[in-house]
Amino acid sequence: MSRNTEEQGFKNVKELINDICGQMNIPEICRVRLMECERELTVHFPVRMDDGRVEVFTGFRVVHNDSRGPSKGGIRYHPDVILDEVRALAALMTLKTAVVNIPYGGAKGAVICNPELLSQTELERLTRRYTVEISLLIGPDSDVPAPDVGTNPQVMAWIMDTYSMGKGYSVPAVVTGKPLDIGGSEGRLEATGHGCTIIAQLAAKQKQINLEGATVAVQGFGNVGSAAARWLARAGCRVIAVADVKGGTYNSKGLNIEDLLKYRNGEGGGFVAGFKGGEAMGNGNAKLANAELLGLPCDILVPAALENQITAANAAQVKAKIVVEGANGPTTPDADRILCDKGILVVPDVLANAGGVVVSYLEWVQGMQSFYWDETEVNNYLGGLMTKAFNKVLHINEDEKVDMRTAAYMVALRRLATAMMTRGIFP
Ligand code: NAD
Repeated sequence: MSRNTEEQGFKNVKELINDICGQMNIPEICRVRLMECERELTVHFPVRMDDGRVEVFTGFRVVHNDSRGPSKGGIRYHPDVILDEVRALAALMTLKTAVVNIPYGGAKGAVICNPELLSQTELERLTRRYTVEISLLIGPDSDVPAPDVGTNPQVMAWIMDTYSMGKGYSVPAVVTGKPLDIGGSEGRLEATGHGCTIIAQLAAKQKQINLEGATVAVQGFGNVGSAAARWLARAGCRVIAVADVKGGTYNSKGLNIEDLLKYRNGEGGGFVAGFKGGEAMGNGNAKLANAELLGLPCDILVPAALENQITAANAAQVKAKIVVEGANGPTTPDADRILCDKGILVVPDVLANAGGVVVSYLEWVQGMQSFYWDETEVNNYLGGLMTKAFNKVLHINEDEKVDMRTAAYMVALRRLATAMMTRGIFP
């Protein structure tokens, strides 16, 4: 499915912010500020390739709003990424950090590239040059990147090292999602998927679904999807299907997620297709496998790949009772209405996948104070913040009789408006 043929993503987020600001009587001076991104940097920079050629890449770093603290948001490496998508993702980060009430604003970055086609040395040179290009914006007190699609802890390590070289001393808090041995946090690698599981548990309770034996389908088996599948399996769920960009695998008795991870990391070459512990989905065709997965009868569906996967064209086929949005923006606005009309409980991205930014916040705090916590402490904190945020959103959902996405936006927009009004307008 082509994701970015038109500039729609930021418009969709803005329309929702606009409508909900209207319903809530949010002051006009706050609403208009949220309709634009505060800072947008586009960079075109050269990278020497292994064969001696020089290629020019385009990258972005966008800060949507930093009223509540330094801006925070991942960096995406993807061949189809466009500025509009980065703006939309930055705005979602503003909302997300406000929903879980951590002292951050929202940002996002990206480079148009296909990391699968780059060697490690090319990826390193690209990352280091992009870091210098966006160093106008990033810093531990101003704007703090993290991993997203196509980036990982190693990429964060190169960013941290490059930024530190410019300063002349180590600055671990300039990025989060770093490897443990250079100031990463326990629990960060799996935090987003772990957070999805905490949310799935709370949502299942609302729907009176027993998680023990509940059936789950997961789209995407990268950082978020694989950790969500692993934590949901540990919680007693039966993960019956997993699909990624190359295909899908199905087992009605439940896939062995640890074996699937081993397969993906080894023989599978990064993908799930061909896994012996399940049947191939979609007759081996990746698009059909993903369509089949989204329409499977199951208790919980976790879209954890990319945006615009559940659309007006396929929403009617979704048979899950709960959708936990592991990805950012996986459901289009039209599809969202269809799912709600079908009585499906959709837990929106700004709440469901906030576990990553919560533990990123904990990593940043640990880096700033050079004092590190163990995994139990980090996970307890994560569980507490996610549960508090879910309960707050649920409370608004019940009181105001609105869906969970609207309720989450209401929580976030109230906090953002309060911060903006308290700070006032400079000068
Ligand atoms: P990733 O690159 O680690 O994994 C992406 C996965 O999606 C891969 O398995 C890939 O094969 C699959 N995929 C890509 N295109 C697909 C397609 N067209 N159809 C089916 N599968 C496809 O990325 P990630 O970090 O796991 O991020 C996934 C989503 O979660 C993104 O929307 C991202 O913005 C969001 N997210 C990530 C984090 C984080 O901490 N990494 C935090 C919050 C939200």
